[in-house]
Amino acid sequence: MSDQDCLVCQLADAPLTVARSSFDRCCADCGRRVMIAPSGVDLLRRRPEVRVICVHCMVMMAEPGMQVGLPGDGDQIIGELRTVRPNEWRHRH
Ligand SMILES: [Zn+2]
Repeated sequence: MSDQDCLVCQLADAPLTVARSSFDRCCADCGRRVMIAPSGVDLLRRRPEVRVICVHCMVMMAEPGMQVGLPGDGDQIIGELRTVRPNEWRHRH
């Protein structure tokens, strides 16, 4: 990872989320609220300088050769994917 690393997040009103996601951050580019899975929250705790970017802004800035990685180890990510559920946050906001 480099100085320009970004954490790519779904928008907070996406239909699905994973358990214990955080909804207290916004995209550094467009300002829309995002959801951050626990693995992303852990990454930001370790590396608070990482920019939070929504998937839509990431698509706009994607270019060939761009490196993409996971915010946590494989087991953590798989564990999160097993908790995918309807996003109830979107109905409360
Ligand atoms: Zn954005």
